[in-house]
Amino acid sequence: MSEVEQVPAESPFHSRLPIGERLDASALTEGLPWAFDEISMRPLEPMLVPEKPRGGETDRAQCGACTPSANTIWHDDLWQVGMRSELSGLPFMAWVSPRGHWLLEDAPIEVLAELGPLMQRISEAVKSIPGVARCHFGRWNDGSAHLHMWALARPAGMMQARGAALAFWDDILPPLPQEMADEHARIVAEALAAGGGEAFPHR
Ligand SMILES: [Zn+2]
Repeated sequence: MSEVEQVPAESPFHSRLPIGERLDASALTEGLPWAFDEISMRPLEPMLVPEKPRGGETDRAQCGACTPSANTIWHDDLWQVGMRSELSGLPFMAWVSPRGHWLLEDAPIEVLAELGPLMQRISEAVKSIPGVARCHFGRWNDGSAHLHMWALARPAGMMQARGAALAFWDDILPPLPQEMADEHARIVAEALAAGGGEAFPHR
């Protein structure tokens, strides 16, 4: 099968961008007590469309979020929470997704309506892990098409991980020992199950 030909994206936004130039990254290193001492950006690459399909976008049988996994730490009738296979450098990091194959664009209102209360429960559960100050949520959806968010725990006192910088520290802090990762997953799973649903449904 031949690949779809990609062409540069066209919009008023794109037309003013200095493609090929290396842009100043000092906004990431100045001001706040931030994470970065020195950063050099790669030259701005051409922005080509159509983009390549995301996981599960063209073949739902290949969708990881639809496949029951031992990494799922909790689920109820509509939503599920699970860990990545790789160990995180953060005290806790998990994906949150509907059990059905929904995109944000087509998810039924009854599924979406459960997300707010679930985010509150997840945040409280994650903050009960020793050494955790806050639970942040990210929704990027560039890897898998299946609607998913990320719940990330910010370590107490770690002002260098404020805001979006937290997602970078995940790969930089030393990975948790397996035993500690399992214990933190257990704390969150049991706290969630106390409010409904089931902990470790596929184990
Ligand atoms: Zn799916």
